[in-house]
Amino acid sequence: MSKRKITLIPGDGIGPEVSIAARRCIEATGVAIDWEIVQAGAEIMVKTGTPLPDEVLESIRRNKIAIKGPVTTPVGSGFRSVNVALRKELDLFACLRPCKSYPGIESRYKMINLIIVRENTEDLYAGIEFDANTKECRALIDKILELHPKAKLHPDAAISIKPISKKATERIVHFAFETAIKNKRKKVTAVHKANIMKSTDGLFLNTAREVAKAYEGRIAFEDRIVDNMCMQLVQRPLEYDVVVLPNLYGDIISDLCAGLIGGLGVAPGANIGDEVALFEATHGSAPKYKGMNKANPTAMILSGVMMLRHIGETKAADRLESAVAKVLKEGRSVTYDLKSDRNDPTAVGTSQMADAIIAALK
Ligand code: NAD
Repeated sequence: MSKRKITLIPGDGIGPEVSIAARRCIEATGVAIDWEIVQAGAEIMVKTGTPLPDEVLESIRRNKIAIKGPVTTPVGSGFRSVNVALRKELDLFACLRPCKSYPGIESRYKMINLIIVRENTEDLYAGIEFDANTKECRALIDKILELHPKAKLHPDAAISIKPISKKATERIVHFAFETAIKNKRKKVTAVHKANIMKSTDGLFLNTAREVAKAYEGRIAFEDRIVDNMCMQLVQRPLEYDVVVLPNLYGDIISDLCAGLIGGLGVAPGANIGDEVALFEATHGSAPKYKGMNKANPTAMILSGVMMLRHIGETKAADRLESAVAKVLKEGRSVTYDLKSDRNDPTAVGTSQMADAIIAALK
């Protein structure tokens, strides 16, 4: 049988460690994969002058499927986010983040099974930003005051632009409903702040309502204001099913939901476009744990499970997910973050947890 080519980007920080753990677990299912390993992030930037060399994009475009470890984004200055650039360059318009409880993981809630669908291409993530006190920013402020004389804008303000379009909203809300159908779900909740941001979030909400009409009778639809949604998710997470959000709220709510199921260490994800799918954990590169064999590989391994399902390897995906669930339920061979006492000396390392998952594969 010919091997399927898949792009693997190890990332930086804890990325290489969790990536190798995921790769070993995926290989242990017996699915034949020819990994094309390419590098992105700060280290390759030193060598090539860019954190996202062309060969990374070329490899993903060629193979259509990629799995990626987290990549550090310097705060405030330095290069722009490789993660955001990948999503934009490859038009990975949908970020899919299932948040599911697994027995054995200590959490305030049991039985959570939410799917978060985050729009990936616009909103305040569009990267249209103007630094304070620059010629461009002052010109923009003048233009805004000309068009919107009532605007209260301090002349030394920095400005980030929040574009929300009907086209991108239609696409993501359709994706959310199709995800609901594919996963036999009952309801889609659109989240917004349309009471305050009437233009952008108002357009998001109205478009979501229109799209929902096409699914009437099959999938229920409701909307929630984002601040209320945060409280609702903390108090009554079981009332929600598939949740669709613009980019920034999606980012924040994804982490909130990861917290509901035991933390970032167990929250997988995928970025999906019409052509290409890129699988990656919700968590970042946790630089303080770099090279310590400490990070939890579960989120990355479960992202691998999503990838296997996406390429039609359903049995392998089910087997790997069951093996992860077994190790989590036993609670013995798990990393520090999954022990009730984070200093528990019986916690195992990243690679040992992967070993236990491989041993649990049936
Ligand atoms: P982070 O997710 O790296 O860490 C947040 C907290 O969660 C930390 O306490 C960390 O120790 C813990 N954590 C994260 N992953 C864990 C794991 N697998 N096992 C155990 N504990 C884990 O978020 P951050 O500190 O805000 O970001 C660090 C860097 O990662 C930043 O540069 C950020 O831009 C980047 N980032 C990258 C991605 C990505 O590549 N997709 C996503 C988010 C953040």
